[in-house]
Amino acid sequence: MIATTLPDASPSLVDGFGRVHTDLRISVTDRCNLRCTYCMPLEVAFKPRDELLTYEEIARVVRVAAGLGIRTIRLTGGEPLVRSRIDVLVRELVAIPGIEDVAMTTNGLLLAEQAAPLYAAGLSRLNVSLDSLREEVFEKIARRKGLDRVLAGLAAAQAAGFRSIRINAVSIRGLTEDEIVPLAALCRREGFHLRFIEFMPLDADGAWSNEQVLSGCEVREILAASVGLLVPAVRSDAAQPAVDYLWADGGGSVGFIDPVTSPFCGQCDRLRLTADGQFRNCLFSTTEWDVRQALRTDGSSMGRDSGSVVDEQIACLLRACVAAKRAAHGIGTPEFARPARAMYQIGG
Ligand code: SAM
Ligand code: SF4
Repeated sequence: MIATTLPDASPSLVDGFGRVHTDLRISVTDRCNLRCTYCMPLEVAFKPRDELLTYEEIARVVRVAAGLGIRTIRLTGGEPLVRSRIDVLVRELVAIPGIEDVAMTTNGLLLAEQAAPLYAAGLSRLNVSLDSLREEVFEKIARRKGLDRVLAGLAAAQAAGFRSIRINAVSIRGLTEDEIVPLAALCRREGFHLRFIEFMPLDADGAWSNEQVLSGCEVREILAASVGLLVPAVRSDAAQPAVDYLWADGGGSVGFIDPVTSPFCGQCDRLRLTADGQFRNCLFSTTEWDVRQALRTDGSSMGRDSGSVVDEQIACLLRACVAAKRAAHGIGTPEFARPARAMYQIGG
């Protein structure tokens, strides 16, 4: 559904529940070199390239968003590294006044070639998704080969200078239990921060069920029984969705993102821009605000400086998107409705 009502101007992006929005997740493509079962269909029709925002259009949106209080950016997809010269976009976003941090979530397959240019462009943080260290399980989940390339990518990222690399692992009952301890061992050894994410109803195949959700609490029990004692870490950023724990023996930290069993909507500070130029106020939003149309409208017909007319429209859409944000996603409630688009089409 495309929204049409626009709210009054506001100096910052505060929603009806007092949540201030400072983080924008930008999907740069819906394409990907894997086909993870929890995200994409096996056979997929991608958006035509001319429907994706150009780097210039993305940078323009970010300039307007920064003027409204957006401070942190995360590039995602689809797989952001399949879009050519993504380091050029990173460099441009890093230079925008007000933007303090540009990060990326990637599956790591193309990181070996791209880690150094991304670091040089000013990318501050990397999240690399990795669910298993066994090739056969990796392939069962991702429906493509690639484990060796992800591991090479991680090594390249370390060599390029990235610190605080995070590993994202989705937890699915009956599928990932045996991957938890080996992933923890790798992360403790290499100094990666491991984060377990509960399986959300955003798979393209519509196969999600509550029974498949392996909760963060259950993952913690497996880790405590097989690796060692975990103690809750002091929370430094209330808007951070992960709840962090420290290994009592000093071996680093583990985070848990539990959107299904412990929703964190009350602290959410995130907005999203899809690769085809739609603002969303939640992963589970059923409404989108069409910024691509605004970007591609000729503002000069309105008799004013065409650039400022378009920028005003972008700001108006962003405020409308924020104003319409619901209190919570409602997974598990009778009112919950799955969004029409799957994770790879939204940007995780
Ligand atoms: N392709 C990149 C990657 O895999 O890191 C970036 C996009 S991916 C959609 C972003 C994150 O969403 C990944 O960490 C992935 O594991 C996670 N993800 C995808 N589908 C999910 C789902 N249904 N539930 C929970 N996490 C999911
Ligand atoms: Fe691709 Fe990432 Fe989705 Fe896997 S989770 S299919 S790597 S976009």
